[in-house]
Amino acid sequence: MQPACPKCRDVTLEHPEGRASRLLRCPTCRGTWMPKDEARLEAVGSLLDADSTIRPGTTEDGRTGLCPLGHGILIRAKVDADPGFYLERCAICHGIWFDKGEWNALAQSHLMEHLDELWDPAFRHRNRQSEAEVQASLQRELGPKVFEALEALATHLAERSPRQKSAALAYLHQRVNRD
Ligand SMILES: [Zn+2]
Ligand SMILES: [Zn+2]
Repeated sequence: MQPACPKCRDVTLEHPEGRASRLLRCPTCRGTWMPKDEARLEAVGSLLDADSTIRPGTTEDGRTGLCPLGHGILIRAKVDADPGFYLERCAICHGIWFDKGEWNALAQSHLMEHLDELWDPAFRHRNRQSEAEVQASLQRELGPKVFEALEALATHLAERSPRQKSAALAYLHQRVNRD
């Protein structure tokens, strides 16, 4: 059986050109399949070469994927990045699918060494704790008054549209850098 792209369905995955790697890539959507026992960290360099897309968030990201090895629907796990996106893993063979750009978004982060933990609820909890640590150190750095104002602003902005958010951040940037 030819491995089919989880997202394009009728497109056959190919091995990236000139590499001994067991990675598979889709020539159409440029997503990547990484088998479980692939040497993941060593594969980082070759994939960075192959995919020059910087930002995740393609239309494929919202689509349900099927394991290219025929194991059925892939299980999604959210990556808390900016912008956030989903990785998908097969519950049977534990291969992982990266939509175009998602690989590059992850390559620089510590998450690459702990990919499987994204599907582990305990890991998600630890990640949230570290956000609390970031807040604590920011509060020490800025003092409680500024930190409180910053948190209030962040809460308000979180409810706004992407356009309003970027307008607000652009203004803030300009305003604080004024001489
Ligand atoms: Zn595809
Ligand atoms: Zn599978």
